[in-house]
Amino acid sequence: MKRTTTLLLLCILFAFNGSAQQVIQRDPMISAMLAEVSPDSLRSHIDKLVSFGTRHTMSTVTDPKRGIGAARKWVLSRFNEFAKQSGGRMTATIDTWMLQPDGRRVDQPQEIGNVMATLKGTDPNDDRIFMVSGHIDSRVSNVSNRESDAPGANDDGSGTAAVIELARVMSKYSFPATIIFVAVSGEEQGLLGANHLAERAVNEKWNLEALLNNDIMGSNHSPDTRLIDNTKIRIFSEGLSGFETDKRAAGVRQYGAENDGKARTLARYVKEVGERYVDNLEVRLIYRNDRYLRGGDHTPFVNRDFAAVRITEMNENFNNQHQDLRTEKGVEYGDYAKNMDFEYLRKNTCLNLASLANLAKAPAMPQNVTLEARNLTNTTSLFWQTPKAGKVKGYYVLMRETHMPFWQKKFFTDKNGLTLPYSKDNYFFAVQAVGEEGHESLPVLPRPSMR
Ligand SMILES: [Zn+2]
Repeated sequence: MKRTTTLLLLCILFAFNGSAQQVIQRDPMISAMLAEVSPDSLRSHIDKLVSFGTRHTMSTVTDPKRGIGAARKWVLSRFNEFAKQSGGRMTATIDTWMLQPDGRRVDQPQEIGNVMATLKGTDPNDDRIFMVSGHIDSRVSNVSNRESDAPGANDDGSGTAAVIELARVMSKYSFPATIIFVAVSGEEQGLLGANHLAERAVNEKWNLEALLNNDIMGSNHSPDTRLIDNTKIRIFSEGLSGFETDKRAAGVRQYGAENDGKARTLARYVKEVGERYVDNLEVRLIYRNDRYLRGGDHTPFVNRDFAAVRITEMNENFNNQHQDLRTEKGVEYGDYAKNMDFEYLRKNTCLNLASLANLAKAPAMPQNVTLEARNLTNTTSLFWQTPKAGKVKGYYVLMRETHMPFWQKKFFTDKNGLTLPYSKDNYFFAVQAVGEEGHESLPVLPRPSMR
């Protein structure tokens, strides 16, 4: 079937009742990458991470076999190994700096580092960056305990292993935009590595379009509710950006845009693309930035106006998380690999891969997306300009009723504008660019135009 026909079919058959009955059309290259993600490979990454005893941020950085320093060097060595198959496009480094005592979770000067692999995009005109993260550090019951074994198989060996596996598979393929794979440090000491990285992204003016942060995503059961389920994954996203919220409040109130911040828009995208590619996985969107009163490495990015979300398993097991290794009243506590479900971790890694690949192969977002608001009408006219980078086949105008959680309908056009017989009073709209092979950019919500 020709791609043009496929695209049209996709938009025609997209149901308007929220059940999203699309024709599933998968890019064979993305499917081929997904097929390479292996539960055994993920398990081997985690077994190795656990073998360092502890990966506490304040643990030894000089011992060759134990502690955070050895763990970081090992991840770097894996990235460097993968770089060999990238034709010179992947480079790896540990971005290190010194922590100074802060009177809280840092009690002595300590070297800290984020381990990063950058897969450079092939289009010199495309400066977009997509990033995926997990945190390499681990902990036990006392957050300052740097000595005891802290296997951190799931928290966050799962996210770190996913990052390593994604780098392993994706380094063999090329994308127009750049992808950064990062094992962040110091999460448990107060999001130190993520803060450093987000600050760097601002200072160096990265065109960072999305961050997928993976933290605790490889175990399928919780003892307190006795739920066992490896078919669902949660994505946490903030509705409003935490960035300059007071400045933007008037616009948000006027447009009713409290549910359409960058993170939430990204979360909807990951759900659509992830479910398109990964069988037997339902992406549950949780409409809050993180779990109740808890935090993660996406937040420093959200706070600086980047689109960033947290990906986390459906049922956290608190007997395993942040626990001293022990048995009490017949219950074994500790974050061991034996408590994990590697098939579930495979699917969740694939969710990341499909989203990153689809984003990095898509054109950039359409520019100057506006909604014509000068005349009072019951139709809606949208206009936009061609993206800065990438070849565009056309655009989807997305539409949903104001009370609906997901985009319900999409209209394809190869023009730079579209008028629809639906009232802007009653629906939300957004526009995404569509590449020649059908990959979609992130959607852009329109600004009103009074011209
Ligand atoms: Zn964690």
